[in-house]
Amino acid sequence: MHRTALLPAALAALLLALPAAAQDFSKVEVESTKVAEGVYALKGAGGNLGLVVGADRAFLIDDQYAPMVPKIRAAIAAITDKPVSFVLNTHWHGDHTGGNEAFAESGTLVVAHDNVRTRLSSDQVMAAFDRTVPAAPKGALPVITFNDQVTFHVGGHTVRTIHIPSAHTDGDAIVHLPETNVIHTGDLVFYGLYPVVDYSNGGSLKGMADATAKLMEMSNEDTRFIPGHGPVVITRRQLAEYLQMLRVVHARLETLIGEGKTLDEVIAARPTAEFDEQWGKGFLPPERWVRINYQGMAPAKDAK
Ligand SMILES: [Zn+2]
Repeated sequence: MHRTALLPAALAALLLALPAAAQDFSKVEVESTKVAEGVYALKGAGGNLGLVVGADRAFLIDDQYAPMVPKIRAAIAAITDKPVSFVLNTHWHGDHTGGNEAFAESGTLVVAHDNVRTRLSSDQVMAAFDRTVPAAPKGALPVITFNDQVTFHVGGHTVRTIHIPSAHTDGDAIVHLPETNVIHTGDLVFYGLYPVVDYSNGGSLKGMADATAKLMEMSNEDTRFIPGHGPVVITRRQLAEYLQMLRVVHARLETLIGEGKTLDEVIAARPTAEFDEQWGKGFLPPERWVRINYQGMAPAKDAK
């Protein structure tokens, strides 16, 4: 496993969307993995990046944090000398959009779903983490936004960017590369760790499961997925495991909440038990993850 993927404090900080200044990026390296011809995944601090390299330009998917930008540029320069014409934000979280301003300053056009620009434009509350994320600077805002989908033509690559409503947030986009059979999932997929579900910003566990089911439908057994967090490439079989986990846990929570169980009773019922070994050792331990979902799913009067 990558050393950078295992620093618990750094991981916690990035997923809590702490200000970049609160984190030490000096030791983080950016590692590149070739996923297909002209398609790369980059791991550093924050969400996994995608890079599509065409004949005359490159297309970047997410940009982590501002202090990571020089390292991201260096990693890209080791792959191609083509300019990064576009960066697509898969959603508004700071570990996917923090590099926007720096890329914009050097001429890259920042693209995202309409709701990403809206959320970046003002302070946002993340109740699950008891945190308010301040508005992004003007120069970091996407200059091209879309409501449903938008397609880019990058050399020989068709880059289909598709909005997924109400999953991890209300502004998620996936990126489908049909020629190379690669899909960047954004934070719809955390592989190997329980995923953040941003209920305060339009996300839901059911929405994440439904979105993952859509990814299954869009793909075949040869498709390679770049998840938002976890290893930089996973297979469709691994995606199916993730979907199964989401579906089972969601169904159990729905039943327990429907029976009027309190948060303590739901936690005591251990609705994630058989998944904890594989998924419960990441940023969100099982109890914490159950609590976030309970608070998001239960009627307001119970969600204390
Ligand atoms: Zn996220």
